[in-house]
Amino acid sequence: MEPSPFRGVVACLATMHGKQWALRPLLRRRLGMSVRVASVDTDALGTFTGEVHRVGSARETVVRKARLGMAATGSPVGLASEGAFGPHPAAPWTPADLEYVALVDDRSGLTVVESALSVETNHSHLVTDGRDRAAVLVFLRRVGFPHHAVVVRPAAGPGRPVKGLRRLADVLAAVRRAAVDSDDGTAVLGADLRAHVNPTRMRVIAAAGRRLARRLAAPCPACAAPGFGPVGAEPGLPCRDCGTPTPRDASLISGCGRCPYRSSRPVAGAADPGSCPACNP
Ligand SMILES: [Zn+2]
Ligand SMILES: [Zn+2]
Repeated sequence: MEPSPFRGVVACLATMHGKQWALRPLLRRRLGMSVRVASVDTDALGTFTGEVHRVGSARETVVRKARLGMAATGSPVGLASEGAFGPHPAAPWTPADLEYVALVDDRSGLTVVESALSVETNHSHLVTDGRDRAAVLVFLRRVGFPHHAVVVRPAAGPGRPVKGLRRLADVLAAVRRAAVDSDDGTAVLGADLRAHVNPTRMRVIAAAGRRLARRLAAPCPACAAPGFGPVGAEPGLPCRDCGTPTPRDASLISGCGRCPYRSSRPVAGAADPGSCPACNP
């Protein structure tokens, strides 16, 4: 294995939410890179609780966030992470957590983004007026409270969310208050998705970080720049029953973040007839 081009490099990590706990040990171990926290207001780029709406995709935001830390610290190497919660792309009824991690290196003009998708998420909420105590307790158990914090806000109207709640008495009081403040008399109780109070999410961020580290350890076969890895896929995997090309990936394309070199690797096997346009139109 070649020596890591990031050995001894200090990267700034833009975070207010303790993401260094997930990323620092693995980047040091796998790349020899040190991580210094840049305490910039990352909430300015969007919050899960809706006070600030994110502009652009999570993939764009993670690069912008890394640049925010670089601008604040003057460091030429920046790191950031950004999550997106929503339906799983292949199973829309299953909630999923998609975490992006980016490295921006202005010394070499390199930007590498990696991601990890997990169905391990407590992303959910309950609308309640607080009177059904049992329903509140069932919800709290389901989201892993109190190891995972929760957020409470009025269901309707301008009231602000109360975040980071980890004591039952505080949750019940916040629900009552939010229900009274709400135009419709109910509160929304939800999982707090910020990384430092959500260990489930922190694990997915670490998984994305491991993929980033692996990729940064892979040099481009053409120009030797670090960060060679997946950039896309080509559909057309043949149907197992009739051989018709399906929308499933037939080959995986790897690319370089600096030069135009691309290579493709065929996907083994055949597609399920369920995804075949001839067998299952
Ligand atoms: Zn290259
Ligand atoms: Zn078919």
